[in-house]
Amino acid sequence: MPDETNGDTKEKIVKSDAEWRQELDPETYHITREAGTERAFTGKYAYTKDPGVYTCTCCGQPLFDSDTKYESGSGWPSFYQPIDADAVETHEDRAYGMVRTEVVCSRCDAHLGHVFPDGPEPTGLRFCMNSASLNLKKKD
Ligand code: FE
Repeated sequence: MPDETNGDTKEKIVKSDAEWRQELDPETYHITREAGTERAFTGKYAYTKDPGVYTCTCCGQPLFDSDTKYESGSGWPSFYQPIDADAVETHEDRAYGMVRTEVVCSRCDAHLGHVFPDGPEPTGLRFCMNSASLNLKKKD
């Protein structure tokens, strides 16, 4: 048995497009599996201030704590850091003639949104997320 205590022991979730399409509603499928973007100011968490943990809508992995959510004015739920450094992964995204940094769930590769260097302290980062990629587990 290899010693995995120091490695990343999180199991990746890999499903076919057909499986995801079956599990997700069409809008959520488009955003999370085809890197879509919901229209600004329309997502269900754009203005939410309820305390809790935002999990991945595809696999349930915890992604962001409500304590790090802030009002960015962008019309999308915005956070200054992930709940855990391993919760998300980033990739360069050159779509639409822009160079942006895409943010995905580290467990199932769901597209979450993008991260920009214009956020508040302490990180200076703005994780600009789609509500459809998230599921708020409210604290009691
Ligand atoms: Fe996920």
